[in-house]
Amino acid sequence: MDSLKRDKRISVLRRTVQGGFALFCLYAGYRFYLFYLWASGQSDIYVPRPPSVEAFLPISALVNLKRLVLTGGFDDIHPAGLTIFMAALVMGLALRKGFCGWICPVGFASNLAESVGRKLKLLQKPPAWLDYPLLSLKYLLLFFFSYLILFQMDLAAMEAFNRSTYNLVVDAKMMFFFLAPSTLSLWILIFLVVISFFLRNFWCRYLCPYGGLLGLLALCSPLKIRRKEENCIDCKKCDRICPGAIQVSGKKSVSSPECIGCGECVSICPAKDCLSLTAPGPRKFPLVTLPAAVLTVFFLFYAWAILTGHWHNDISPDMMRDIYSTIDLHELAHP
Ligand code: SF4
Ligand code: SF4
Repeated sequence: MDSLKRDKRISVLRRTVQGGFALFCLYAGYRFYLFYLWASGQSDIYVPRPPSVEAFLPISALVNLKRLVLTGGFDDIHPAGLTIFMAALVMGLALRKGFCGWICPVGFASNLAESVGRKLKLLQKPPAWLDYPLLSLKYLLLFFFSYLILFQMDLAAMEAFNRSTYNLVVDAKMMFFFLAPSTLSLWILIFLVVISFFLRNFWCRYLCPYGGLLGLLALCSPLKIRRKEENCIDCKKCDRICPGAIQVSGKKSVSSPECIGCGECVSICPAKDCLSLTAPGPRKFPLVTLPAAVLTVFFLFYAWAILTGHWHNDISPDMMRDIYSTIDLHELAHP
C-alpha cells in the first residue's frame, strides 16, 4: 500500500497557519461570548466586542458589497465582515482558493476530518453520477443567495436589512447556532462530521457557497499548478492526496475551481521537476509564494481597514446593551 510519503514542510506550514487562524477564531468567539453576557445583562464585566466575528456573516457582507458598489457607502454595522469578504474575493481572483486552503477555519476542520478518514482508510471516491450532482449543490446555494441579494434587493431593502435589529445581533444568533444548536442543527452537524470521514472535504467541495464563489473567481487566477507530462511517472500520488479530489495526473495545468492552492500535490510528487506552481509564461514560483501572498493580502486589507476606520463599527456598547435587553434573541426571525 502506498504510504503517500512526501516532503511535509508545506503541509506542516499549512496546518500551522490554518490552526493559528482557527485558534484565533475560537478566542474571538470566546471574547464575543463574554461581550454578549455583558450586553445581555448576565455579567457586570465589560469585554469589547471583537469585530473579527463578522467574518462568519457572508450574507451581510454580500448585501453590503452591493451597497458599496451602488452608493460608495461602506458597511458601518459589520465593516470587518465586508473587509474580510473583499480580501477573500481578491485572493480568489489572484491566488486561487487560497482563502479556503490557508485561512478558513471551516476548511481547516474539513481538512482535519479528511486526514482522519485517510488514516482510518475510510475515504471513498464517489462515482461520477453522484459526485457531479453533489458538486452542483454549492453553486445552487450560491445562485440562490446571489439572486436574492443582487437581483431582488433594491437600495431601500438593503438599508432596511442593514438597520434591522436582526442584522445588529446576527453575530450572536450565529454564536448560539453553535453553542446551543437545535436538535435538527445538531444532527446536521453530526452528519457533516461523519460524512467528511468518507467523502473528502465534504462541506467545502459540495456545500459551501462562499467557496463556490471563490472557486469561480479562481478560474481567472494566473497562478496554477502545472504538470510536465514528460517528467511524470504516473504514480497518481497527486490524485490521492488532493483535497479537491482533482485528477492532477491527467492534466497539464490545474484550473479547476476545486483547487484550494494547498500545494500538497507538488510536495508529494516523487518525479523531479514535474509539478510546480506557475504563473503565465515559463516562470515557476516556490510553493511558499502562495501562502505568503495569501497572508499579505489578508493583512493588507486588515491594516487598511484599521487605518481608515473600516474595522470597528460605530455602535456604542451601551446601545447594544439596550438592544439585547429588549429582544428575545432566540425568537428573532430573519427580516
Ligand atoms: S504528477 Fe507527480 S505525483 Fe502526479 S502522477 Fe505524475 S509523477 Fe505522480
Ligand atoms: S490540485 Fe494540488 S494545490 Fe490544488 S487542491 Fe489539489 S493538491 Fe491542492
